Amino acid sequence: MSSIDWKQYLQKEYNCSCGRVHICDIEEIYIEENAVRRLPEILSRHSYKNLCIVCDKNTERAAGFQIYNELEKAGYSFKKILFGQEELVPDEEALIYLFSEVDNDCDLIIAVGGGTINDLCRYVSYKMKIDYYIVGTAPSMDGYASNVSPLIIRHLKTTFEARPARVIIGDLNIMSQAPLPMIAAGVGDILGKYVCLTDWQLAHIVNGEYICPEIMELVKQSIQKVVDNAEFAAKRDKQAIAAIMEGLVLSGIAMSYIGNSRPASGSEHHMSHYWEMMFLLDHQQDPLHGTKVGIGTVAAVRLYEMLKEKQEQLIPVKDFSIDKTQWKQEIQRAYGPAAPGVLSLEERIGKNSQEEVRRRTEAFLENKERIWEIIEELPDAEKIINVLKSMEAPFYPEQIQVSPEVFKHGIFYAKDLRNRFGLLQILFDFGLQEEFADRLINEVYR
Ligand SMILES: [Zn+2]
Ligand SMILES: [Zn+2]
Repeated sequence: MSSIDWKQYLQKEYNCSCGRVHICDIEEIYIEENAVRRLPEILSRHSYKNLCIVCDKNTERAAGFQIYNELEKAGYSFKKILFGQEELVPDEEALIYLFSEVDNDCDLIIAVGGGTINDLCRYVSYKMKIDYYIVGTAPSMDGYASNVSPLIIRHLKTTFEARPARVIIGDLNIMSQAPLPMIAAGVGDILGKYVCLTDWQLAHIVNGEYICPEIMELVKQSIQKVVDNAEFAAKRDKQAIAAIMEGLVLSGIAMSYIGNSRPASGSEHHMSHYWEMMFLLDHQQDPLHGTKVGIGTVAAVRLYEMLKEKQEQLIPVKDFSIDKTQWKQEIQRAYGPAAPGVLSLEERIGKNSQEEVRRRTEAFLENKERIWEIIEELPDAEKIINVLKSMEAPFYPEQIQVSPEVFKHGIFYAKDLRNRFGLLQILFDFGLQEEFADRLINEVYR
């Protein structure tokens, strides 16, 4: 049923027009009905001896029991590892549990689930230098084909290097049964790519950051697939679910090609990561990754619209100065126990220094024609909201209990989570944070 010939992307060195060689180290991808039944046949082509199957209670019900059954029928033995908690967080505790449960002679982990299980198994298998497969249970995020694992270590959302799954299985019978908010979350994760691509192009212009037009094209394809099929996916049409899953996998391949999450994670992700950290610190329920990203996308697109309105008034910032002591206090207030990691990052890279702000604002304005053209290509916030609405998904922060204070902190300080230039840094550089944040808060909290 899959409309994509995955072979063209997998395990082949691709000499790209950007000057680099891209490779995606995934062996096989199956997005089709009954894909789970292929597992014994796939395994028969390898010589794995000690398998572990990792589920949580929900994913065991959705797909795990069926996998146990298929493998037992084919004569495979395996160890079951089950995460028992209601809300699984990819943190130290979950990692230690997984490390201690996986036998040291295990040579293949089969992860069953969506985001969190996938992130944990990808990281643990990478550290143990063994293979892992992923059986997706919902088209809920774009990490299936990715080669990095976002984890929460010392309260800080951090992206760790890892290796992609060897095999990705998206069984449409299983995926089309996923709860609607999960399907909508996958769509939200992809809507964010509009902002990612804008941030990336601006980083290329302002900072001379590496960019690859062909990877951008791949991400655009992914967006198109998802936007075209969102409404039908909400009705659980299997073709549409397949298209969403394909879009998610393509976005992951784009990340694997470049080796980091640049093409797939921009200011909308940074804001959503900040909210996530705050939800966890407050012991509040944390919504799905893609749900937050969808809301972050609406916010980021609105901020870009506000920036566009300001275009005639922007001038290079020459005498910028920051009160370092005060800034540190603000970071401590905004990040709480996660602040030390944020402070030491800035210590190391100094992206908020006077020289850097001056250099960036000058570079921005020297290239402003091109920059406004790029920003012009973004869809209206209204269009993003309509796609989310068609899936009954939330689109404003209030709908997922992000407080106005956390929302404002996100606009101000989410950029300090990592060294990745984008919209939020631009607002800082031109001194627009306060004004734009207040305007946006008036719009989205009613
Ligand atoms: Zn390239
Ligand atoms: Zn994402």
